[in-house]
Amino acid sequence: MISSYKERIASRLTLVTSMIILVVFGVIYFVANLTVIDTIDRELGLETDKHKGQIFLVNGEIRFLHMDEWEEMEHSQIQLNPIFIEIVDLNGKSMDRSPNLRENHLSFSPEKSAKKEAWTLRLGASEVRQMQIPLITAGKQEGYLLVAKSFDDSRELLNNLRNVLLILYPGILLSLFLTMRYLAGKSIEPIQQIIRKTNQITQSNLNERIPLAEANDEIGQLTRSINELLERLEASLNREKQFTSDASHELRTPLSVLRGTLEVLIRKPRTAEEYVEKIKTSLSSIDRMSATIDQLLALAREEKGKNLVKEELELITFLEEIVDETASEQNRKITFQSQSGIPIYLKANEKSLQLILGNLLQNAIKYSMPETEIFVKTGLNVGTPYIEICDSGSGISKEYLEKIFDPFFREKEAVDQLIPGTGLGLAIVKKLSQESGIKVSVSSEKGKGSTFRLDFPNS
Ligand code: ADP
Repeated sequence: MISSYKERIASRLTLVTSMIILVVFGVIYFVANLTVIDTIDRELGLETDKHKGQIFLVNGEIRFLHMDEWEEMEHSQIQLNPIFIEIVDLNGKSMDRSPNLRENHLSFSPEKSAKKEAWTLRLGASEVRQMQIPLITAGKQEGYLLVAKSFDDSRELLNNLRNVLLILYPGILLSLFLTMRYLAGKSIEPIQQIIRKTNQITQSNLNERIPLAEANDEIGQLTRSINELLERLEASLNREKQFTSDASHELRTPLSVLRGTLEVLIRKPRTAEEYVEKIKTSLSSIDRMSATIDQLLALAREEKGKNLVKEELELITFLEEIVDETASEQNRKITFQSQSGIPIYLKANEKSLQLILGNLLQNAIKYSMPETEIFVKTGLNVGTPYIEICDSGSGISKEYLEKIFDPFFREKEAVDQLIPGTGLGLAIVKKLSQESGIKVSVSSEKGKGSTFRLDFPNS
């Protein structure tokens, strides 16, 4: 069974080439055959024409124009490549024939005489091409002249050609297969090197790369693609490590506060007020941990939800409800504006969209002064729906506009001002949006405010 790639390539190429060579050899043999027959037939034609003017049948008797010449003719002798001649009457009865025919007779076939066409037949032990023409004297047909020429030499030539081609054919195929197998083996050698190197790379040496071949061919491209994949894997592994360390840190801080508070509390008896105060501090640490765990769970959950169920919803009504609810819960002025005069229908996962909008609205509320207004706008941009959440809050520094979507990233200002948060909100927004095919973008100016924009995919 053929297993290796080089053998598969070699056998496929050999198979195709074998068919082409077979056709070429067939054409060579066919053309040679035609040429040989054509040459003999032309000679036969000339010979027939020559004798036509020399032999006459008059009242059933043969007359020669030059009797002496006829007797000296080549076909009276036994030659290597002789011409055979026979004269027959209208019924095919032999009247005279050249001595080299000996006891044999040529074939009589009156229907072929009109067309002056030649055919092959056996004459004793040899093969001949024969032609036949009518003998006409004074406008009256008296008999037929049959002329034949030995085909033995030509047959031998054709047989030799056929044998050479038949011997050459398997020889060519075998050498072709071996050459192609060798060349295919040579050309996949770099791939084998890539396989060897790739097999050596594990999690512990993920920073290693496959040496890049000089040529900028497919193998070079393959090497580059594998190296890029390794790069992405390494980055993702590093992100994962960073995430775990950030998550542990984020949980350890309130846990230390909780432990410290309880330790202080247990040292000696306290007043009722002191107990209340310390327990409140402990509860806020627990709240912070719960919030972080909830956010982490939200991130973990949506990672499993690749096949999101999308339902049709009307965006304007949906947004109005969320805006009203949030405004009354948080006691903030949130203005909803629709730039579309007609309802906007789209397919989306309601739960995901609620989470995304919830996080963005919470941020707009958290990072702006209570007296400032928040706007939620919607509309259609070249037929596709969009949502914008605008605040006139602290804004985001240009250099952090990308980073804010990383898990646990918080601007120093937010941490310093003790604004509650875990740094996971926008990471959740980014992941959920990616799942739903929504494009999230942000524009912000420090001290002036931020606008987060969601562009829905074409449905
Ligand atoms: P969190 O709000 O819990 O800190 P997020 O992931 O929601 O975490 O946001 C990450 C950071 O991005 C925030 O700490 C804040 O610095 C910045 N940020 C997000 N939204 C806004 C906003 N509307 N205005 C100003 N800064 C923002």
